[in-house]
Amino acid sequence: MATFPQLQGDLGVLDGYHSAQVDVDVRLNTNESPFPPPPAFRTALAEAVATLPLHRYPDRSCHALRADLARLHSVRPDQVFVANGSNEVLQCLLLAYGGPGRTAALFEPTYAMHGTIARMTRTTLAEGQRADDLSLPLAEVRRVLGQESPAVTFLCSPNNPTGRSEPQEVVEEVLAIAPGLVVVDEAYAQFAPWSAVALVADDVPLVVTRTYSKTWSMAGVRLGYLIGPAEVVAALWDKAALPYHVDALKQVAGRLALRFTDEMEDRVALLVVERERVTAGLARLPVDTWPSDANFLLFRPRHRDGAEVWAGLVDRSVLVRDCSSWPRLEGCLRVTIGTPAENDAFLAALEDVL
Ligand code: PMP
Repeated sequence: MATFPQLQGDLGVLDGYHSAQVDVDVRLNTNESPFPPPPAFRTALAEAVATLPLHRYPDRSCHALRADLARLHSVRPDQVFVANGSNEVLQCLLLAYGGPGRTAALFEPTYAMHGTIARMTRTTLAEGQRADDLSLPLAEVRRVLGQESPAVTFLCSPNNPTGRSEPQEVVEEVLAIAPGLVVVDEAYAQFAPWSAVALVADDVPLVVTRTYSKTWSMAGVRLGYLIGPAEVVAALWDKAALPYHVDALKQVAGRLALRFTDEMEDRVALLVVERERVTAGLARLPVDTWPSDANFLLFRPRHRDGAEVWAGLVDRSVLVRDCSSWPRLEGCLRVTIGTPAENDAFLAALEDVL
């Protein structure tokens, strides 16, 4: 009988990061855009793909896409690294700067993949805690960074799943005291009042990660990138990424999307209006909520078990994220802002359940 080897490190005991994929009418559980990209983008993409030399490997360094992204962010192309979703960007970062004998710091509750990728890459995890109002106390940052000397410190702004963005003073202070690389995950950047991209420079140990999965309405394409010092970007291309890891179709899609920036900004504006409407709707129900700078809202039913409320919503064909068993988020659920009709359906279903 063949015997299979055990999984390496902690992988055998790790829970994967999965959102339930349940067949419902209203899916508000993964913070995607509820709107597809514009029809003109689809047409342009189909035309561009029709003439791609698919028998050849793609441009390994994504020159054209990086040049376009550099223009968008007023940086240089050698300050842009691209990968298959920002999760892969984060994985490349920890392959390069984490690993055995190194520590990565994060502040719970935050995006679960930061910890998961640390564990996958056998990076030691140092977990600090946010305050009761879920803000990030600098005293706690100083304590964790002072004690653990992390090679990588993760911030997430706006933070998933709490929705808050970090004030610029906080990011600057973390940068001033961090002993290693600071990663600011800005998956929801276009909803935030400011961006840490403005702080990126070749002599500053800061990288900012971005994704096409949310505001660009391209979660199905799997494309993400980071803006950072040229030295870090070069290390990621040369040492952490596999050869030709970003395929030719994706490179084209990423470039064409940038021609539709106005449409993207219109979608963001509409989602912000809807977010405020959903916030007002939740305020009329027996739930606690937290302020959000993103396209989702964290809430906690006051007198009901969170998992029970989640199941009640599924019974009414509405799927939200069940965070009720996550650290520090007992009883909490997270709802993604959808189309106006989806948001109405969510509010009506929640009122019914409660
Ligand atoms: N960072 C944060 C904070 C996220 O919420 C997500 C998506 N859930 C990601 C990164 C990963 O996005 P991508 O689809 O680009 O891998």
